[in-house]
Amino acid sequence: MIAGIDLDRDPVLEAVFAPLLKNKPLKINVVALAGIPSPYDAWCSLLDGTHTIFVNLSLWDVSRIQSKGRPVILHEITHFLLRQLNRPEPKTPEQQLQDIVFDEGIAHYVGYPGNRLSLGHDRISERQKAEQELSRALRALSTRSKLSQAEKAALLRRANTGPYWEKYGAIAGMFLVSDIYNKDGPDGVRRYIVKGPSR
Ligand SMILES: [Zn+2]
Repeated sequence: MIAGIDLDRDPVLEAVFAPLLKNKPLKINVVALAGIPSPYDAWCSLLDGTHTIFVNLSLWDVSRIQSKGRPVILHEITHFLLRQLNRPEPKTPEQQLQDIVFDEGIAHYVGYPGNRLSLGHDRISERQKAEQELSRALRALSTRSKLSQAEKAALLRRANTGPYWEKYGAIAGMFLVSDIYNKDGPDGVRRYIVKGPSR
């Protein structure tokens, strides 16, 4: 599968992360599996101490590999790079959502399958929907909220699962990063990464 993916250097990934992670080599394994039911086509985890991208080949065909293979690999590599920075664990559901917006926002931006530079002017209605849902969810997850644990867990899950444009936390975070990149370039995104999720 990897042979079918263009793995040339990515200018955004390199410009943002190279100065942050100088001299720290990052080794990544890719493990292809088959026969796993949907919905996960790829995910990442630590396997015996090595960052590993698992690819569920049952959900990929040649045309999908050509159109989505590179964005998916860029997305997962971004998660590994962010993990190198050792941020504190979130303590509350509200902080968990802020972490999703941060981590998934950056990974979705780097791995966006379309044109990253015009993203800020595209998809206005999807953007507004995700941002409105995010502010409602942040209120619903606050310490004053009356929601049950199960309802809070469902809200958190929806922030980053389901159809692409409906993952409100990831999508709102992606547009936030797109605005930062368009205004301040890779330096701005790097400052955002160093500062960490808003708490
Ligand atoms: Zn992700």
